Amino acid sequence: MLLSDKYPFLTNYFNNMFNTEPLRAPQSIIFWGSDFESQFILSREIARLLNCTGDKSDGCTCINCNWIRDNAHPAVQIISRVDNKPSEDESKTVISIKQANEIKSSLMTSSDFYRVFIFCDRDDDGNICGLNQQNFQEETANALLKVIEEPSARVMFIFLARYREDLLQTIISRSQCFYVPSFERPSTDYSIIESVFTEYYNIKRKDAFNTADGIVNLAKNHPPVEVLSAMQNYMFELLKSNPDNTRFIKDIATVEKAKRQIQLNMNIQNVIENMCLDIIH
Ligand SMILES: [Zn+2]
Repeated sequence: MLLSDKYPFLTNYFNNMFNTEPLRAPQSIIFWGSDFESQFILSREIARLLNCTGDKSDGCTCINCNWIRDNAHPAVQIISRVDNKPSEDESKTVISIKQANEIKSSLMTSSDFYRVFIFCDRDDDGNICGLNQQNFQEETANALLKVIEEPSARVMFIFLARYREDLLQTIISRSQCFYVPSFERPSTDYSIIESVFTEYYNIKRKDAFNTADGIVNLAKNHPPVEVLSAMQNYMFELLKSNPDNTRFIKDIATVEKAKRQIQLNMNIQNVIENMCLDIIH
């Protein structure tokens, strides 16, 4: 499926923007949502449209388009805690200030290309993931503010995140933000949590820690966020058959908060215990 079929609004929007003279492209863009792969492909498409020397079509085979599709273009860089590290940079968990400084000094020299920096994270398998305040910390973001803000010719920064709020306000306020919807149908399955969580509304407060231990154990065999999603699916089912019981809406939100805390690498046992104390009364 072509990207222009999947995201007609966004691709038309950027196509129109890049076809105006003089070119008035934003210097900083945030893509947010749960579909990181699409966010990344959109970012790469933007880099391609900005650098294409052919007809800008989906199938253009000019050297810039080919390079960009192969992730090999010198002016289109992925910046993450594992990509494009300076050689003496030992940091492994964050985009470092050294990386920010390297970008800044690279911008001191001119380039024939439109330079695009795609900021993101990667999981252990190398898949593209979102930024958050853990992997893209304030001091690094601050080191970049000046170059993001100062209009220098033909440079664009793109930031990928699950939630817009995962980025610092200083970055958000300097960027155009676009929500990228996911077309994957979310699972509604909750079988993995049935053994410990069924009828959780009947669990006594004194048993909240036992329930938390049960959930933590499940999270050793499944991705923790998947376990929490299964709990939310179960709560959705309860809500459908008890539409007047707003408790379930509140509980779904509480579990969502726990998910975000886990994504920020907070201690899973603590996060799940606190969540259970909130939802088991
Ligand atoms: Zn081209």
